[in-house]
Amino acid sequence: MKVFKFGGASVKDADAVKNVGTILQQYNQQPILVVVSAMGKTTNALEQLVNAHYHNDGQTKQRLYKEIKSFHDSIINGLLQNTSLHAYYDIDNLFIELECLLESESEGSYDYNYDQIVSYGEIFSTRIVSTYLNESGIKNRWIDARNFINTDNTYREPKVDWLSTKNVIEKKLKPIVHKQLVVTQGFIGQNKEHNTVTLGREGSDYSAAIFAFGLEAESVTIWKDVAGVMNADPKKFEAAIKLDELNYTHAIEMAYYGATVIHPKTIQPLQSKNIPLYVKSFINPHEKGTVVSTYANEKLIPSFISKTKQTLLSISSKDFSFIVEDNLSTIFNLFAEHHMKINLMQNSAISFSVCIDDKGDELEKLKSDLSIDFNVKTNNDVELITVMHYNEEAIKQATTGKTILLEQRTRATIQFVLK
Ligand code: ASP
Ligand code: MG
Repeated sequence: MKVFKFGGASVKDADAVKNVGTILQQYNQQPILVVVSAMGKTTNALEQLVNAHYHNDGQTKQRLYKEIKSFHDSIINGLLQNTSLHAYYDIDNLFIELECLLESESEGSYDYNYDQIVSYGEIFSTRIVSTYLNESGIKNRWIDARNFINTDNTYREPKVDWLSTKNVIEKKLKPIVHKQLVVTQGFIGQNKEHNTVTLGREGSDYSAAIFAFGLEAESVTIWKDVAGVMNADPKKFEAAIKLDELNYTHAIEMAYYGATVIHPKTIQPLQSKNIPLYVKSFINPHEKGTVVSTYANEKLIPSFISKTKQTLLSISSKDFSFIVEDNLSTIFNLFAEHHMKINLMQNSAISFSVCIDDKGDELEKLKSDLSIDFNVKTNNDVELITVMHYNEEAIKQATTGKTILLEQRTRATIQFVLK
């Protein structure tokens, strides 16, 4: 049993969806669960729609809704011959559902509203893909991922309830996948109150891993618009090369440091069951791609991971006290309260520096809370660059022409905050 994941770029227009069909045809008769993300940049558009809805901006809301609807309509028209089919009406009904939701006044927290609205991207996309595949002879069953991925009640980044999720996938989903190709959504699940939740941006990889864990799948394949996992972002490093094999730990670290090719939470569930992860190109599906597994035969060449739009905060106490345990716990609590993830930290006797994503308003709120007890200095728009398996040459490549604001080095990894 295999799990395939197709991301937004692989279903961004009608031709892309047809290409998904061509790939699946080559795996005809094999038990496969296909996890699909929202089409193209739909999630971004839906995020804007949530903003408009939450702030009661009727005009923007209407405009965005129409844009999202016509984007999907154009894909449907490029795919389905006969739009008077039942299946087509089902898709249309989903849009009406969303429209009704938008017409009612927004209730509950922002994050709750976010999950109820943004999740439609995956629902639309999987309905369209599943219907198209069925029409073109690739028989499949559409499944609602929310019936299988159970979480706690945190919106936007809930914790998965592994026990119940594993149970229901094994008992209820596995027999279905054995019988028939299954198409389901990435990124979404259901909480204890039976409301929809989303698993965090780019969370469809994580969904694929959760399903694979529950199904005890033989492998997961993430189909991407790149050849595999590269040692650097080819848009930033001309000399980027593809890594043929990677071990789980290296992949987890790369994802943790900000390599966007794999969602950071994806690897652990796979590692725990020794399920290999293939990252392959949907443009050249016959090429080997990258395999992430336990016994990877890794070439230890330097990997470069760059995170831009970073803010460096330097926090020091107002009363000249040292930054030790009690101060640190106050600081960490504030970061947790504001859902701020620390990408790098360093402390000295009287100051504590952290590099975090610039999350706009939320960062300002954090800074103002920190300012009650601490002096906070800010360096905006810096870059965090991590070089794994570094050497002198690689360090030069990463830092030439830039000012180093902070440096941290272990035996295998070096990180710089650069301006
Ligand atoms: N559609 C979601 C996003 O764009 C999830 C995913 O693509 O993995 O973040
Ligand atoms: Mg995506």
